[in-house]
Amino acid sequence: MVVGAGIVGMTCAVELRHRGARVCVVTADEPARTTSWLAAAVWYPVGIGGSERAFAYAQESFDVFADQASQGVPGVRMIDTRMLHRNPLPADPWWSTAVPGFATEGAEHPFTGTWRFSVPLVEVPVYLPWLHAQALDLGVEVRTRSVESLAELADRARTVVNATGLAARTLCGDTTVQPVRGQVIRASNPGLSTSVRDEQHPGGHTYVHPRHRDVIIGGTFEPGTTDTTPDPATAQRLWARATELVPELHRARVLEHHAGLRPHRDDGPRVERDHDLVPGRAVVHNYGHGGAGITLSWGSARDTADLVEHALEAAAV
Ligand SMILES: Cc1cc2nc3c(=O)[nH]c(=O)nc-3n(C[C@H](O)[C@H](O)[C@H](O)COP(=O)(O)OP(=O)(O)OC[C@H]3O[C@@H](n4cnc5c(N)ncnc54)[C@H](O)[C@@H]3O)c2cc1C
Repeated sequence: MVVGAGIVGMTCAVELRHRGARVCVVTADEPARTTSWLAAAVWYPVGIGGSERAFAYAQESFDVFADQASQGVPGVRMIDTRMLHRNPLPADPWWSTAVPGFATEGAEHPFTGTWRFSVPLVEVPVYLPWLHAQALDLGVEVRTRSVESLAELADRARTVVNATGLAARTLCGDTTVQPVRGQVIRASNPGLSTSVRDEQHPGGHTYVHPRHRDVIIGGTFEPGTTDTTPDPATAQRLWARATELVPELHRARVLEHHAGLRPHRDDGPRVERDHDLVPGRAVVHNYGHGGAGITLSWGSARDTADLVEHALEAAAV
């Protein structure tokens, strides 16, 4: 049984089903009410802790999405990106080795240089319904209901995968998972096709990610804030920075304002078997992906599926 139907829960469900497991997904929310739905959502492995495992998840997920983009999977494509620097250009990031064609270029004042790269962009409102449809076609059952504790599922499943994102904080008492609020603007797309990032803007992180019909403009990183009501003053500042960075946005129309809570853990996502939470039952955790849940999704789902298989093998001995 998989608890959670955001990007993390649904990739786990599909991966497990592909390996032959019988899978039921339980979710408190419809897809459109998950954090995943709000994500920009580009492959960008930052803030994931320093572990080699998280790096491997990012690389593996990059390859899956790149393959899906080449096969025309709905909502997935590669997007050219310009990342502008204001400080002296640093060494190439570790993840550049996962990104074919990563290059460094000059830039005009006030910028000191540019990283150019092409990475997967996932339109979650298109991709997540596709993933749900895939799961249903494969025979995964999806039930909408909230669970009070993971133990209540123990009688109904041999293994429980906990993919509840920020809710893991209460469901398994893990206070290391913390909300990091992110506010974004969704605007019409005035003809943009390149992602632009200015992370050293004195006013705060700025990014413009064009999708098929709209553009996601962000963003804020506000640790510990749980209010998801968009703040009008923040929206004004985001809009001012974005239109300065990409002047074509003056022709765009603001469609919506959103704020979501990234499930952040300083050590990166928790993907491990828990022997103690529900006595006699295997619980495998997969939560706490912070601002990189899409970026790490397929890699962490495969690791989770390995852990589930090991747990089932051990139980069979
Ligand atoms: C503004 C913003 C921009 C972002 N941009 C990016 C980006 O560009 N790239 C990227 O990789 N990531 C990005 N992220 C991060 C990404 O959205 C998250 O890491 C990801 O959505 C986490 O997915 P999840 O499936 O773990 O959680 P969620 O999507 O929150 O799903 C949790 C699931 O658990 C279920 N659940 C919770 N409690 C219970 C319960 N008690 N009973 C039953 N079900 C329960 C929920 O109903 C839901 O189905 C961004 C996030 C934000 C907010």
